[in-house]
Amino acid sequence: MIRDPENERMPRKDLENVQLRRLQARAKDVYEKVPFYRKAFKERKVTPEDVRSLTDLSRLPFTSKLDFRDNYPYGLLATPLNRVVRIHSSSGTTGKPIVAPYTQSDIDNWSDIMARTLVTAGVRSDDILQNAYGYGLFTGGLGFHYGAERLGATVIPTGGGNTKRQIILLQDLGTTVITCTPSYALILAETALDMGVDLRETKLRLGVCGAEPWSEQMRNDIEERLGIRAVNIYGLTEVVGPGVSVECERRCGMHIAEDHFLAEVIDPHSGDPLPYGEQGELVITTLTKEAQPVIRYRTRDIVSLDREPCDCGRTHVRMSRVTGRSDDMLIIRGVNVFPSQIESVLLEVEGVEPHYLIVVDRKNAFSSDELEIWVEVSDNVFSDEMQKMEKLEKRLRAEMDSVLGISARIKLVEPKTIARTEGKAKRVVDRSEVAP
Ligand code: AMP
Ligand code: ZN
Repeated sequence: MIRDPENERMPRKDLENVQLRRLQARAKDVYEKVPFYRKAFKERKVTPEDVRSLTDLSRLPFTSKLDFRDNYPYGLLATPLNRVVRIHSSSGTTGKPIVAPYTQSDIDNWSDIMARTLVTAGVRSDDILQNAYGYGLFTGGLGFHYGAERLGATVIPTGGGNTKRQIILLQDLGTTVITCTPSYALILAETALDMGVDLRETKLRLGVCGAEPWSEQMRNDIEERLGIRAVNIYGLTEVVGPGVSVECERRCGMHIAEDHFLAEVIDPHSGDPLPYGEQGELVITTLTKEAQPVIRYRTRDIVSLDREPCDCGRTHVRMSRVTGRSDDMLIIRGVNVFPSQIESVLLEVEGVEPHYLIVVDRKNAFSSDELEIWVEVSDNVFSDEMQKMEKLEKRLRAEMDSVLGISARIKLVEPKTIARTEGKAKRVVDRSEVAP
C-alpha cells in the first residue's frame, strides 16, 4: 500500500528535517554524477557540503528548460542508463523534446505519490476511475494509471479521445471518477449532450483535472455540466509528471508533496527568492528522484505559496492556481506549444516568411482547443495558382504536425499582411482580435 502516508501531516520541523537530509543527498548525487551540475555548482562556488540548512538551497544553481535541451537526451542522468526502466517525454522549446527517465524506484515512488495525491483529491479504493489522460509519452496517462492501481481503485484506461465510446463505457461500467484535462471534461459534457446522455444522472461524482490552466469559472461550468466535484491537480514532466500538487477537500490551493518536492517562489527577473504569499515563478527541487534529479527547476509557472496550516490537517504547503507563465508557452489540447517551435519550422520551409500569427480560441488564461497558424508567403512564391499554394500549405501542416505533436490549421496570407511591431512581436492573438 501507500508508503509514508504520515508524511503529509508531519509537524513542519520534522518535515524540514526530512527535506534537509534528502536535499543533502541529492546535492551530493548530482555533484558526483552529473557533469552539468558539477560545473554549475563550481560556477556558483558551492559544494554539496555547503548545504547545511534549507536556506542554503538559494545558493544552488537553477536548472532551466534550455539545460534540458543542451543536455539532451541523457546528459542529466544520475544513474547508469541500464537502471532506467521507462522514459516519458514532453515538448521542449525548439526541435528537441524534454526527456524524463525513471528508475524502478522512481516509478514506485511516483505511484505512491500519485496514490496519495488521488486520496487527497477524494478518490477511494472502491472507486471506478476512468483515466482519459493521454497514454504514451505524456506522463498523464501512466502517471494516473499506476497511482490509481496502487490505491486499489478500478482503472479503465481509456486514454484521451474516442469520446462517444468514453460516454458509453462511463455509463455501462459505472464510472465514479473521471481523470482528464479540464477542456476534455467539457468536451465529454458536450458529446454526452449530443448523444442524449445526461452525465448528471450517471454515477460520476468526481473529476481530477489538470495538465493545463483553468479558472474558477471553468470549474463551476464543469461541475454543473457533469454533475461532479472537480479538483485541481498539477505536475510537470521535468519534475515527475502529475502528482506534484493537488487540492484537498478544502480546495484552498494545491498541497505540494513536500516530502518529495521542495518548492520556492522566485522573482522571475532577478531570480531572488520571494517570501511566502508573494506571486512569482515556482521553482522545484526533486528530493527523491534517482534517474534524473533536478535542482531548482524553473517551472516558468506563476503561482504563490501559502504555508498557513490547512483545515484538512495536512502540513504541506499549498500553491495557488497557476495564473500565468513567465515564458510564452501555450498549452493546446494538453500539448505544450512554444512560438519558437513554429518559428523553427518556418525558417526551414522554402516559400514562407518567418512572420506568423498564432490564433487561439481562448477560453481562459492560455489554453485553447484550436490552433491556427497564419503564415506569410514570400513575394516570389505568392501566386494565384491554387495548386501551388495548396502544396505549400500541406507541407507546412505536415511539418508543424511533426514538430509540435498536434495538428494545426494553416492559413497562408499575402506578403506583408501580418502587422509588424517595433517592440516585442505579438505572436499570439485571440480569435476575437482578428477577422475570421
Ligand atoms: P507537461 O510537462 O507537458 O505535463 O506540462 C507541464 C505544464 O503544464 C506545467 O508547467 C504547467 O504550465 C501546466 N500545468 C500542469 N498542471 C496544471 C494545472 N493544474 N493548472 C495550470 N497549469 C498546469
Ligand atoms: Zn488541505
